[in-house]
Amino acid sequence: MLIFESSKKLTAHIKALKANGLTIGFVPTMGALHEGHLSLIKTSKKACKLTVCSIFVNPTQFNDKKDFEKYPNTIENDRKLLIKAGCDILFIPSVIEMYPKGFTNRSRVNFGFLAQTLEGEHRPGHFDGMAQIVYKLLRVVAPHKLFMGLKDYQQQLIVAELIRKKKLATKLVALETKREKDGLAMSSRNVRLDSKSRKVAVELSTALKLIKGKVIKSKTQKGLVEIQEKGLSYLKKFKALEVEYLEIRNAKTLKVPASGREKLVALIAAKIGGVRLIDNMLLN
Ligand code: AMP
Repeated sequence: MLIFESSKKLTAHIKALKANGLTIGFVPTMGALHEGHLSLIKTSKKACKLTVCSIFVNPTQFNDKKDFEKYPNTIENDRKLLIKAGCDILFIPSVIEMYPKGFTNRSRVNFGFLAQTLEGEHRPGHFDGMAQIVYKLLRVVAPHKLFMGLKDYQQQLIVAELIRKKKLATKLVALETKREKDGLAMSSRNVRLDSKSRKVAVELSTALKLIKGKVIKSKTQKGLVEIQEKGLSYLKKFKALEVEYLEIRNAKTLKVPASGREKLVALIAAKIGGVRLIDNMLLN
């Protein structure tokens, strides 16, 4: 596996590979890799000739300084996992490399409601920072295909919009969420859960499953609101869980649905023992 720290060198290298007709798949991450990340690498390897993974903990997408400081760093293990998974190129830029002195975000995109609701409401500035780094990385790597997880549901909708608005020649492929045996969505943040919090964390996915089970039977807007309330009251039983939101939304627009005939997704964010987790489930 080749390792690059310089954007310029990586761009030049990839340009040469593309000139030879090779297809490039790209998996951007913030490291602390787990099976969820590795499933993206595996799919990229099947779909493209060469796979590039980036590891960059992007400071501009953290609205909470403590969350940034506590973000796990397991770079040596990540490197080993990527070699084992057959990743071809690893890009690990420094903060200065991605944000040189005097840098300003001139490529800002207005995503409207899509970036204002849910995570946008609870993590001000998060999506601006995320879109900024994804756009920069896409310009450096210029992949044919970009592999992202449905785990970060709102993120992949916004990246699809970014690709459309910037008219990039990259196809976004969004892949399903990898879960632990009990249902907890895999996340780099899970390592920060103590054993008591880990036990409660599974209730996020349990609440989503409960909602999914009920949505099949209800088609009205009133019915959907009642189901959402049932999910919330189920979670209220767990004192260690601090729910930020649990919402049923239109799976494309994230708007409040008018009926159960629309394509629906349930999304949740909650804090458990000081660790903020998100999860979601497509409902129909
Ligand atoms: P992160 O390192 O958390 O920024 O995630 C990097 C990529 O991996 C994003 O596209 C995530 O959506 C994806 N990802 C994170 N967790 C999972 C998971 N449990 N299953 C599938 N993909 C995931």
